[in-house]
Amino acid sequence: MQKIGHWIDGKMVDGTSGRFAEVFNPATGEKQAELALATPAELNAAIASAEKAQVKWAATNPQRRARVFMAFGALINRDMEILAEMVSREHGKTIPDARGDIQRGLEVVEVCMGLPAQLKGEFTDSAGPGIDLYAMRQALGVVAGITPFNFPAMIPLWKMAPAIASGNAMILKPSERCPSTALHLAKLFQEAGLPDGVLQVVNGDKEIVDAILDHDTIQAVGFVGSTPIAQYIYGRAATNGKRAQCFGGAKNHMIIMPDADLDKAADALIGAGYGAAGERCMAISVAVPVGQKTADALIEKLVPRIEKLKVGPYTAGEDVDFGPVITAASAARIKGLIDSGVEQGADLVVDGRDFKLQGYENGFFVGATLFDNVTADMEIYKQEIFGPVLCQVRAESYEEALNLVMENEFGNGTAIYTADGDTARDFASRVNVGMVGINFPIPVPLSYYSFGGWKKSAFGDLNQYGPDAFKFYTKTKTVTARWFSGIKDGAALNFKAMD
Ligand code: NAD
Repeated sequence: MQKIGHWIDGKMVDGTSGRFAEVFNPATGEKQAELALATPAELNAAIASAEKAQVKWAATNPQRRARVFMAFGALINRDMEILAEMVSREHGKTIPDARGDIQRGLEVVEVCMGLPAQLKGEFTDSAGPGIDLYAMRQALGVVAGITPFNFPAMIPLWKMAPAIASGNAMILKPSERCPSTALHLAKLFQEAGLPDGVLQVVNGDKEIVDAILDHDTIQAVGFVGSTPIAQYIYGRAATNGKRAQCFGGAKNHMIIMPDADLDKAADALIGAGYGAAGERCMAISVAVPVGQKTADALIEKLVPRIEKLKVGPYTAGEDVDFGPVITAASAARIKGLIDSGVEQGADLVVDGRDFKLQGYENGFFVGATLFDNVTADMEIYKQEIFGPVLCQVRAESYEEALNLVMENEFGNGTAIYTADGDTARDFASRVNVGMVGINFPIPVPLSYYSFGGWKKSAFGDLNQYGPDAFKFYTKTKTVTARWFSGIKDGAALNFKAMD
């Protein structure tokens, strides 16, 4: 059985706790590795070494730091297929989707190649007589990133790249379900020239997360995961005086107006609802057609598209549409929620509960599922299912559809499909959700903007990656400087005549 340890001081080390997490291949259901869970003592050693390395790294001039990112980007491209296979083997997503996972992380690395420009300060000349005012952005020190299973490359890169670009050292704690990709990325960072100690990958569970949150040296915590854990981490980090930005779960709605191109809307719903088996925080899990005619027509368009979806292991080829979910427990939970939808009166149009694949009977597969006539009081509407389940909630009017989105406790992403610019503008302006798509189903902002939800989808006041990340990972120092007149005015340098 493969044993996976930690990346400390630029090398792989075994764990010493004797405690392990099981890493599965979700497609086969087989256990493929044991992941060492770190002890607080191992964490302390990693933090001490990070603290030392950070001082030198922060003092390295920004252009030299940027060159490390340029080399890192090239190495990620070089190892794209190795990384994609690693992501798919532990997560279960298809290879093309795994490449996308890496690509959207790589794009954040690309923005970090321009870190000297991102970190420029501010300057006011002659703010008063002989007075200049300037502000500089300085690294925080040692910071931590705690990441979820569903994007094993992208989210560790969203955390480590801007933090390290800003001159910090990072302790990364990846998901215990998909740990290998982050470890490979750490090796590539070293190969790119990142000094040992600046990035430490410490694997673990709640015990190590709590130790991170309570450690005095850790200055900031960037978290991505489910809402209850995000809220817990935000609270504990803040109580301990740390900066925290904690991104949580989601329930993303797409409103389909009667004037929308329904083929395009249906295609978008298939990709955004079922891609990655629905295990995306920006997945569309609720379709809200406006008007009964739109709703009936949408169901007619969705069903044949769903029936054509190819579900399978990533090894079955690039035409597989989505793979298994992450664990057996997750598959059981999703199927249980589908049961509850039926019990609570929703119409089960396509049932994925009995999906079976020959040769992969032990894999964690759930087939694509579609519900119609879902209402806001049902569990399938209230909970983030995080599986290949799309719920249709019918609305009579635009205002009713908008209200549904507004009243949902989550506010990560949302979309509207319409041919009417006025409706689209009204929606974008009024909706209380952080990322909005107009005829665009998964509006994950490009890497030179920033990513973040509203309401229970995010705790903290700055978004991740892009300009906000450079603010989050640096603190401002403002200097007011007055220079009294010196040699310029007082000294007589000219050859004076006698008075
Ligand atoms: P999770 O909350 O179970 O785990 C996330 C991280 O927290 C992991 O590293 C895990 O080890 C740690 N953790 C888990 N339980 C903990 C506890 N009790 N105390 C301390 N640490 C704990 O999330 P997950 O299942 O890995 O990921 C899926 C969730 O992440 C979904 O809810 C999804 O919407 C969300 N997500 C959000 C975003 C976003 O940007 N908003 C992006 C991706 C995923």
